[in-house]
Amino acid sequence: MEFIDLKAQQKRIKTQIDARMSKVLEHGQYIMGPEVRELETKLASYVNAQYCIGCASGTNALELVFAAWGIGKGDAVFTTPLSFIATGETIAKTGAIPIFVDIDPLSFNMDTSRLEDAILAVKKRDRSQHPLPAQAVEQQLHPRVIVAVDLFGNPPDYDSLLSVAQRHNLLVLEDGAQAFGGAYKTRPLCNCGCHAATTSFFPAKPLGCYGDGGAVFTNDSSLASLVDSLRYHGRINAQNKNENIRLGGNGRIDTLQAAILLAKLEIFSDEVGLRQHVAEGYAQRFARRAIPDLLLPTVADTCRSSWAQYTVQLPQKIDRTRVMKLMKDKGIPTFINYPLGMHTQGCFSYLGYTPHDFPVVQAVCQRVLSLPMHPYLSSGDQDSIAETLIQACGVSND
Ligand SMILES: *Cc1c(COP(=O)(O)O)cnc(C)c1O
Repeated sequence: MEFIDLKAQQKRIKTQIDARMSKVLEHGQYIMGPEVRELETKLASYVNAQYCIGCASGTNALELVFAAWGIGKGDAVFTTPLSFIATGETIAKTGAIPIFVDIDPLSFNMDTSRLEDAILAVKKRDRSQHPLPAQAVEQQLHPRVIVAVDLFGNPPDYDSLLSVAQRHNLLVLEDGAQAFGGAYKTRPLCNCGCHAATTSFFPAKPLGCYGDGGAVFTNDSSLASLVDSLRYHGRINAQNKNENIRLGGNGRIDTLQAAILLAKLEIFSDEVGLRQHVAEGYAQRFARRAIPDLLLPTVADTCRSSWAQYTVQLPQKIDRTRVMKLMKDKGIPTFINYPLGMHTQGCFSYLGYTPHDFPVVQAVCQRVLSLPMHPYLSSGDQDSIAETLIQACGVSND
């Protein structure tokens, strides 16, 4: 059994992928070939955004937006401590100070009711109001950006997050690396009211290519043209490749990856539907034979997760290592997303956070376990995953 079965998907669309790739080999425009524009147009329309700019990875997409907004030294950027490391890493590499805000224990996302306190604490350089790194006490940082993460494909409470942002005049960047295909109320993720959104096409993401890739989404035309320039060495425009008016870099997506994504996009809506079905299948199986104190992932009624991960929280008294081993012995791969809150990662030790600064993340990290999740997970495999987990947690057959 695979944790994410990319082979089943490939089997389904092999002909289309081969055709798309052959076409690229025929025209030979490997960099910024016509597939890149076609992909950008289709992705933008998928989420009703005005602009989509393909780029080198989800990490690169975050870097490009921060660069375009001129984020750097002296700035404070607010985000969740529970995310893939790239979220915090890209903030810190600009020179800005990441200010973490603890999560809601059920949605895994930033607890937006704590966000305003964090902003006020930075403004007042007051650690008693919210845990702050020394850098935010010693100097007056300027609150600039909130990076909202749709963790595991599930959106945070954007209504409240965006209203806090508006009150404090902050930019909001949606890190939708795991979220393409999801929705917040009536709005598609990657275009749900933030100033910009990013996504990743890392192979294991809901919409993945066969290498690295990412994209920036926005409805802001000047941001779009800045990002477009920055990903291509700061060129003035597509017609004048060698006229460079700003320092950029190489942040392009390959034509071949764009071609692969175009083939995958054809079946993507269907796959998002299949993921919903798999998630419901897990919920039903665990409802039938309840494990006391097992927490299932929750998605608000009005929202749709893209189900990048199906992450449960094991009962508090259960030894996770033992559960993982029992499942592995039955051929069931599991994963921990994530074992550490970013505030306790070595790369952020210079910020001086302590583990108990964010107690909810701290507790959640001890309990999380991600189960296999992909559109092609069979009902039989789901039966055996649920049954094995139920047994591993010591619930007897009755
Ligand atoms: C995967 C991921 C990224 C980085 O994407 P890459 O394409 O691997 O660079 C950033 N943020 C989150 C939340 C992610 O899950």
